Amino acid sequence: MLGSAVVRSLANEDAELLLTTRADLDLTDQALVKRWMDTYRPELIFHVGAKVGGIHANATMPADFLRDNLLIQSNVIEGAHCFGVQKLVFVATNCTYPHNAAQPISEEALLTGPLDDNIRFYAVSKIAGIEMCRAYRKQYGCNFISVIPPNLYGPGDNYHTQHSHVVAGILRRTHEAKVEGKSELVVWGDGTPRRELLHVDDLADAMKCIMLASVKYDLYNIGCGHDIAISELARIIAEIVGFKGKIVYDISKPNGTMRKLLDSSRIRSLGWSPKIDEKAGLRGAYEDFLHLLQASELGARL
Ligand code: GDP
Repeated sequence: MLGSAVVRSLANEDAELLLTTRADLDLTDQALVKRWMDTYRPELIFHVGAKVGGIHANATMPADFLRDNLLIQSNVIEGAHCFGVQKLVFVATNCTYPHNAAQPISEEALLTGPLDDNIRFYAVSKIAGIEMCRAYRKQYGCNFISVIPPNLYGPGDNYHTQHSHVVAGILRRTHEAKVEGKSELVVWGDGTPRRELLHVDDLADAMKCIMLASVKYDLYNIGCGHDIAISELARIIAEIVGFKGKIVYDISKPNGTMRKLLDSSRIRSLGWSPKIDEKAGLRGAYEDFLHLLQASELGARL
């Protein structure tokens, strides 16, 4: 999802793109990563590869999230150092901030309080990534920078019924409720948590901006600047999909952190701002879902 968005954002840049897929390069394998770096000698790295998933995936696969991300990050960051990469931008997550952080959350809030239990292991893996970038900066002078996005959505998302993030999960269930003629759409939690959404192309654009600029900090929040309640998100998605039934809440599913709005003034001071309107972006995400469905690719991706 994010890798493809980064590639789209670089379409008009004078750059040779060295691309690889999960099938071609297992980033958890240190020897393979070193061999790939040695062969291709990248000058810049967008470190977007990670094991990611929504609140339910985090609750059910904590060991996988922690192990895979620690391995991937160690291999890519150490490889980047060994082969003299000039700049690396690492993607972390808003889960890294304390669950009771003051809003909007500034980059200084990292490691100042306890994490939300639902996403603790994923958060710890990504905090380790941020701290690794900092350690390599400190010890070896590497130009490694981390970014913290909010909840992403957009083309190439994972629409798995259980493992997806909130936008993809609700999009899929709303579509299914409509085509199956159901009277109710079930939304997880009680609908009151708030989430800041960002289109994946806006994140890719911000990462390109950081890659091209001479930047002052080692950590940048990249948010759209406002958040919405899950209940409001569900209402907007129902309108886009054309579901006319009732929205009900499954409170056996966790709410997670109640609010995690990012303070994105650092990235805005570099001249970046999000370009994609939320409703237009969500409409595009639904079209992406329908496209996958029509191409019968959805089954293969689950
Ligand atoms: P989070 O921001 O790290 O918590 O990750 P998610 O993208 O999984 O968002 C979780 C929030 O959305 C929680 O408050 C959930 O209760 C709520 N939610 C509502 N419906 C869904 C759904 O279908 N999938 C997911 N992942 N979350 C949902």
